[in-house]
Amino acid sequence: MTTKRRHILGFWAGAALLPQHLLAQDIPLWTESDLRQALALRDATPTDNLAYQLVDSLVTEVGSRPAGSAADPRAVEWALAKLKALGFSNVRADPVAVKAWRAGPVSVDITAPFAHRLVATALGNSVGTPAGGLEAEMAYYPDLASLKADTSDRAKSRIVFINQKTERSRDGSGYGGAVMARVAGAVEAARRGAVAVAIRSIGTDRDRLAHTGGMRYDTQLRQVPALAVSVPDADLIERLQRYGRPVVMRLNVQTETGLDATSHNVIAEVPGTDLSDEIVLLGAHLDSWHVGQGAIDDGVGVGIVCAAAKRLLDGGKPLRRTVRVVLFANEENGLSGATAYADQYKAVRHQLVGESDFGAGKVWRMRSKVHGDAVPALQQMARWLAPLGIEAGDNNGSPAPDAGVMVRRNQWPGIELTQDGTDYFDWHHTDNDTLDKINPDTLPQNVAAWSVVAWLASQSSQRFGQSPAA
Ligand SMILES: [Zn+2]
Repeated sequence: MTTKRRHILGFWAGAALLPQHLLAQDIPLWTESDLRQALALRDATPTDNLAYQLVDSLVTEVGSRPAGSAADPRAVEWALAKLKALGFSNVRADPVAVKAWRAGPVSVDITAPFAHRLVATALGNSVGTPAGGLEAEMAYYPDLASLKADTSDRAKSRIVFINQKTERSRDGSGYGGAVMARVAGAVEAARRGAVAVAIRSIGTDRDRLAHTGGMRYDTQLRQVPALAVSVPDADLIERLQRYGRPVVMRLNVQTETGLDATSHNVIAEVPGTDLSDEIVLLGAHLDSWHVGQGAIDDGVGVGIVCAAAKRLLDGGKPLRRTVRVVLFANEENGLSGATAYADQYKAVRHQLVGESDFGAGKVWRMRSKVHGDAVPALQQMARWLAPLGIEAGDNNGSPAPDAGVMVRRNQWPGIELTQDGTDYFDWHHTDNDTLDKINPDTLPQNVAAWSVVAWLASQSSQRFGQSPAA
């Protein structure tokens, strides 16, 4: 048997195993013309690099922009002006109530057994210390699991230190495995009577810079100050505690929490035609932490999804469904924008929701999170992305983070375009999140992938989700 013949037989043997509804597809998912347009969007070589121009403009003209800060309304104004200038329709800002948090000065010193000043940052949402600071012996834990397993009173009246290490990974799983030390460390410390919690920065770098990020309290427990020290400072603490003598830490953390403020989700559309009341949502978040410029998190996502939607606007072919860009408010400290959007538009049918919020690396995988009936359609979409170097993943995707809120709350179909995050956690949530960390050459591939996904979702003869929630 020739190789070719074996291949043909293999194909048919495989086809016989396919579910019947795939073989008997009466209505094609896309017209020939729609598929040709998908190819054109995918393979276009625009002369500009709009995604890069947008993130450059945002971080240069606004910079860091925490929810509820003075820079927040300037970011909203920036987005409204840009989206209007790009020619989108229905450009607007939906108000979102936020609980703002402000970071003030932070100082962290080791006073015994050897004096050191450490590089540290307050964790997002943390309360402050008393004005004069606080000093206590440290209770060292190599990771969150060891703190959770501690049933003794060792942490009582002490400053808990969690030396949780973050492994480098392409898909962010190293971060996923470490981040609960930041999110839940204060609760576990307070449960054991500690007066504060400090953690090793959740980051993969060796820089003497601390990484901030969101943390939570349990309202039933005392709210204790929470901060992160840089990775090299965490190594120093690890060495100090090996002496077997008390390690004493002095903290002064000043913050303001729970400030009532209004931010906005900024929205722009490429209107659809016969199915215009159904939405394909391309998201990113407009806010950032107070550190850095918010370039990789998430100015670049803003640039990518706006440029992808602009490509549809300029594509010259009418869309069936409406493609809606949503630049979410306050992702970082509470996902307030995503929650407000999910409630406000609950009754509107959403065909697909996705978000670009994992830095500037190339997309290497597509995963979905859709109703089972739509999986074959999503698998077909993945095939169109393959020439961009994107592999097909499973239907267990985690469209993160704002899109994930909507997938969970409203059961809207979601899509994840997984970016290469190998370097992302070197800079994430630090003063090093600046424009120079973005390689402009990786952005056109991201833009092409999102434009193809949005186009095919818009044009599909199949609805990807179930009926909207009542
Ligand atoms: Zn982000």
